Amino acid sequence: HRGWIEVVCGSMFSGKTEELIRRLTRARIARQRVEIFKPGLDTRYHAEDVVSHNANSIRSTPVSLPAEILLLAAGSDVVGIDEAQFFDHSLVEVCGQLANNGVRVIVAGLDMDYLGRPFGPMPALLATAEFVTKVHAVCVCCGEIASYSFRIAASESQVLLGETDSYEARCRPCFLQGMQAK
Ligand code: ADP
Ligand code: MG
Repeated sequence: HRGWIEVVCGSMFSGKTEELIRRLTRARIARQRVEIFKPGLDTRYHAEDVVSHNANSIRSTPVSLPAEILLLAAGSDVVGIDEAQFFDHSLVEVCGQLANNGVRVIVAGLDMDYLGRPFGPMPALLATAEFVTKVHAVCVCCGEIASYSFRIAASESQVLLGETDSYEARCRPCFLQGMQAK
């Protein structure tokens, strides 16, 4: 069959991993060969599983470089990649090559970092994907739809692995308010 790229993006707690697991599980039910990858640095819940905040999980292979995915995905019908924002830009070429080779590639990742800036290879993936889904969290301040990840921990590094102790899902006005109060 012919390949393509699907991207699932949004803020933290928006259900990206849940949605990725849902699509991959259905592909498995349809007896497709599914491989799942995540960046090796994301060890928040488990060294090997991709785990959502509501504790759904699926076995994955941690890799440090996108090129490893090309090698390890040989023979797959479907390739899932979680936390794609943490990979370097070569992920864009790797996903393109997989899709060109007939693979259905499903990529989940943060579209913006904690300052609201486009994150890593995500902008280019969004531009080159056939299908883009933006999912939303609930703003913890006001209950509106949230598309920002507000960092409550004091750190200025773009990569800070964390949970509800370090980040909050916020809508645009509540995100702006929080940034101005800092
Ligand atoms: P993501 O991969 O986008 O960070 P997950 O799929 O891991 O998201 O988790 C989504 C789950 O997070 C929701 O189903 C819900 O149980 C939980 N959750 C915690 N905080 C929020 C929030 N502010 N808005 C929506 N869901 C939340
Ligand atoms: Mg996730």
